[in-house]
Amino acid sequence: MSSIQPPTLSFEVFPPQSPADRAALLTTLDQLRGCHPAFVSVTYTNHQLDYEQATLGLAQTVQARVGCPVMVHLLAAYTSKTQVSRILADLESLGVTQILGLRGDLDPGQTPGADFPHASDLIRFIKARNPQFRLAGAGYPAGHPESPTREADLAHLQEKVAAGCDRVMTQVFYDNQQFDRFRADCAARDITVPILAGILPILSRQQALRVETDFGARLPQPLRTRLDRVWDDPVAFRAVGLDYAVEQINDLVAHGVAGIHLFTLNQASTVAAIYARTAALFEK
Ligand code: FAD
Repeated sequence: MSSIQPPTLSFEVFPPQSPADRAALLTTLDQLRGCHPAFVSVTYTNHQLDYEQATLGLAQTVQARVGCPVMVHLLAAYTSKTQVSRILADLESLGVTQILGLRGDLDPGQTPGADFPHASDLIRFIKARNPQFRLAGAGYPAGHPESPTREADLAHLQEKVAAGCDRVMTQVFYDNQQFDRFRADCAARDITVPILAGILPILSRQQALRVETDFGARLPQPLRTRLDRVWDDPVAFRAVGLDYAVEQINDLVAHGVAGIHLFTLNQASTVAAIYARTAALFEK
């Protein structure tokens, strides 16, 4: 019997913005229950709703509906120490113990608060105040877009991990060799915590056109060629995107990835299609 642990499988969902979105989300959560996730992470991107309503509300729904641990995303840039302290108390009362500590994107029209200029400041604050929380930080295989060099970004990641992260979760990427290089560069800097690979299948032309600007994720030429061949056929396009994600996951697992974090876009059909073809990779 092998003593090697299989990789973890986890998923990201986001707060819905309309009743129709909510119905799709609930179907997705029902689908996730059958995937036995290590955890489900809940983003905070809807600036119209407050954190309690949007992210903590959904965290409770995930706990009830999926029955797995929840990780909440917490954004530092526009949040004060007082607000974070209140949120930590809320999380404790809900039994949520995992946080992805992020700075968040900077809004040119809004002045960031002074308490947490970087994600590492937030992570250090939480670790000192409530050491029982498990903290994760974001990593960028291609380098963070604001960073002058990849090296500088890796040094900041090292600082973030030293501040108290027990995992790194990556930005989406489509070039597994880029991920392998990132993992090797982390190891060379003594970043030894598990690195979970962020996977977002490309399912539409619109998405293909946006991943580079939205996530700084370059599409490698072989993938571009495959997508170009089916550019005018949405059904075939989706099938190619799903195939590629499955191939990426298989290859990452073959190369010993610590975990796969699948960005679901709250689409049950995407979760079902990927899980049906990869479940065996994650069996204990
Ligand atoms: P940081 O770690 O603070 O890094 C930001 C930049 O500052 C980098 O260029 C870094 O190199 C630099 N830096 C860090 N420390 C220092 C320092 N001490 N001195 C100088 N420079 C420094 N965004 C959302 O709005 N909501 C979400 O739910 C969300 N979820 C995400 C999930 C994942 C897995 C990932 C990878 C990203 C997510 N994001 C989300 C996007 C993220 O908020 C942005 O990429 C943001 O621009 C940076 O956040 P960070 O936590 O990586 O910041």
